Amino acid sequence: MSLNIVMIGPPGAGKGTQAERLTRAYGIPKISTGEILREAVAVKSELGLRVAETIAAGRLVSDDIMLRVAEERLARADVSAGFILDGFPRTVQARALDAMMEGRGPIIPIVIEVPEDEIARRLTQRRVCGACGATYGAFGPTGAPDAGRCAKCGGVLVQRKDDDDHVIRQRLHVYAEITAPLIAFYQSRPTFARIDGRQPPERVAEDMHAAVEAGMAVARNDARATKGRP
Ligand code: ADP
Repeated sequence: MSLNIVMIGPPGAGKGTQAERLTRAYGIPKISTGEILREAVAVKSELGLRVAETIAAGRLVSDDIMLRVAEERLARADVSAGFILDGFPRTVQARALDAMMEGRGPIIPIVIEVPEDEIARRLTQRRVCGACGATYGAFGPTGAPDAGRCAKCGGVLVQRKDDDDHVIRQRLHVYAEITAPLIAFYQSRPTFARIDGRQPPERVAEDMHAAVEAGMAVARNDARATKGRP
């Protein structure tokens, strides 16, 4: 049975950091739609040229485009054992994801909750490596960056274009209005979990792990129950 995790939470909640850990723990790929789009922008592909302005303004890319991106990514062979989605779905995309999941087993939606003032503080401090994309922040996986250089590859650390004050406010607004309602969409599912993202990354990781294990147990039981039916 495949392990299909969907991470939900405001920007800066630590979804990327936790998804990275889960990837290592369970050997399934992390799929970050934000990363896919930023890469497309960096190489100026057709997709990149279409979405660059939208991302820089902190608005959402159209569902049309995102569904295509997600469908294409979820059709690749490396997701046969499952995946960790970070940044998708964000809207009614959730219904489309359910349709894409037919025959693949249930998803485990996990919400990382962090209050807005904490998020704003984290995002203003966040830096990313211009070369390899690793993320750093006072809350980040590797702590405060040393001399503005990436600990992994030595690349120069920069601020993400959409991490400036004005754009951060816009992204938080979009999250509250459009993405937070996903919680209502998913919360009645037996695999759903909610985690306190204000804790140190280690503790969040422990809670994530527990949520994934609980979700898998539910999914296994469901599979057994369904098998028994005519
Ligand atoms: P955040 O830290 O805001 O969660 P991401 O790296 O996930 O950042 O995404 C960065 C930007 O990419 C978003 O602000 C949005 O413009 C675009 N984007 C990423 N995923 C989606 C999606 N599923 N639907 C619409 N837009 C998206």
